[in-house]
Amino acid sequence: MESQINPHDDISLSEKIYPSGDKSEAQAMCICGAVKINIKTQSPEMSTFCHCWSCRRAHSAPMYHVIYCCTANIDCRTGKKKSGNFEITVVKGFDHLQQVKGGPGNPNYRTFDDSPRVGGIGRLFCRDCGTIMLNAFYRKIEDKGERYGVFPGTFTDKMNIFLRAWQPTSHINCESAIINVSAIQDGLKKYQTMTDSELFIK
Ligand SMILES: [Zn+2]
Ligand SMILES: [Zn+2]
Repeated sequence: MESQINPHDDISLSEKIYPSGDKSEAQAMCICGAVKINIKTQSPEMSTFCHCWSCRRAHSAPMYHVIYCCTANIDCRTGKKKSGNFEITVVKGFDHLQQVKGGPGNPNYRTFDDSPRVGGIGRLFCRDCGTIMLNAFYRKIEDKGERYGVFPGTFTDKMNIFLRAWQPTSHINCESAIINVSAIQDGLKKYQTMTDSELFIK
C-alpha cells in the first residue's frame, strides 16, 4: 500500500517547512526600540500558531506565532521586576511595558481575572509604539505554572537559525480561524481549541 502523507500531521514535512539551526538565544524588540527582550532557552514550553479572536485582534494579524517559556524577569501576578537570570529577560524598557485591558470580543475572558484557564498580567505592549511584546500569566488549572510568551514576529533574526525545539509544533484555536487553515499544509496538527482538544482537520 502506498504511504500517504497527511499535510496536517507529518513531522518530517513540518521539519522541511520550518527548518532549524543551532541558536538558543534571540533578541526581540518593539518597533520604536524602547523595549528589548532577550530569550535564551534550550526547551521552550510551547511554540504554536494561535488563530483565536483574542490573539488575532490583539496583534492585528490573521494568525500569529507565540513561544512560551516558564520563567521571566517579570512576576506574572504583580508585574514587578525580578532580579536574576531567566529564559525571558526584558533587558530594556521594562517600565515601558503596559497591560492590555480585557474587553468585548475576547473569547477566553472579559477580564484577566475571570478566565477559568488563566490569571495574571496578560498581554503587555510598549507604551510608546504599541507593539505587543510579552504575555505573562499563570495557569489556574493543572500544574498552575507560570507562562511567559514572546513573539517571533518581534525577533531580530529569522526563525530558521533557532533550535528545533523553538519551531512551531501546532495550530491551535482553528475553529476561530478567519483564514483557510486547510490550505496551510505544513505537516502540523490543527486543533479545534487547545492541544488537548479534537483535531480541526483529521
Ligand atoms: Zn516601542
Ligand atoms: Zn490565541
